[in-house]
Amino acid sequence: MDPAERDLWLGRVASIKQWSRRGERAPHKPLLLLYALGELRRGTTEIAWRAAAGKLGALLDDFGPPRTTQPSHPFRRLANDDGLWVVTTPSGEDPGDSAGRLAALDATGRLADDFTRALLDDPGLLVTVARLLLEDNWPPSLHDDITAAVGLDLDHVEAELVRGRVDDDDRRRRRDPNFRERVLVAYEYRCAVCGFDGWMDRAAVGLEAAHIRWWSADGPDDVANGICACSLHHVLLDSGVLGIDDEHRVLVSKRFVARTTAGERQVLALAGADLRLPQPGEPAPASEHIAWHADQVFRGPARLAG
Ligand SMILES: [Zn+2]
Repeated sequence: MDPAERDLWLGRVASIKQWSRRGERAPHKPLLLLYALGELRRGTTEIAWRAAAGKLGALLDDFGPPRTTQPSHPFRRLANDDGLWVVTTPSGEDPGDSAGRLAALDATGRLADDFTRALLDDPGLLVTVARLLLEDNWPPSLHDDITAAVGLDLDHVEAELVRGRVDDDDRRRRRDPNFRERVLVAYEYRCAVCGFDGWMDRAAVGLEAAHIRWWSADGPDDVANGICACSLHHVLLDSGVLGIDDEHRVLVSKRFVARTTAGERQVLALAGADLRLPQPGEPAPASEHIAWHADQVFRGPARLAG
């Protein structure tokens, strides 16, 4: 894509009209666009209001401001911004922005045709648009949660771009957008290491699905290769402070030190503790993945349980 066209689209995205007052957040349109980009990655261009309303409402609840918000507003109003989004109805009537009218008139939204073509022609544009929306509206700590919620695998698209294989669609390994949800449900929304089970409104917070064998090292998106971990224990697993043994006990690297009671309680005291296993019927971490982590990540030797 030539730089002028790229700049045109980025300029339009950057200048989406967002209501704002005294620092209040209004990420409604950005969330809708991110959702539409996720759908586009899955090959869906038409977004029927009736089918998407629930999901859009949940996204706004989870990543929007705490005040009540209507997903029907951005769904209709984004079409007023320059050339990004189109809303149509079979009858040709303008549905306005009430949820009831959008449903009654069977409204459908889609990214504008030129925009869709540009995004499909240049996956780098898609990544840049998504990153721009994320940067402008949320702190980095939430970016992964948001991209997971809309099913956008940005890191993966970027890696493929660097490798120059992005056109080779069939051979590409894709992340399973449901991995996080399947792992969190299997572990009943509880950190397998410490038992943390934070929840706010209708969503788990501070809980993540960790790959035991890293995805980047060909680890599969299987529950048997995942554990639900709080954000702290996820980082410590990935950085080799924590490990798992064959009996599903927690290992703590001898090389890790912490001098405060917080470090003691949250890390050192876990040495030798039993991992909280998934609910009946769901697979515990598989020994082959545990072996990979022990070999490739865990900074042994392990501290003796005390
Ligand atoms: Zn934890």
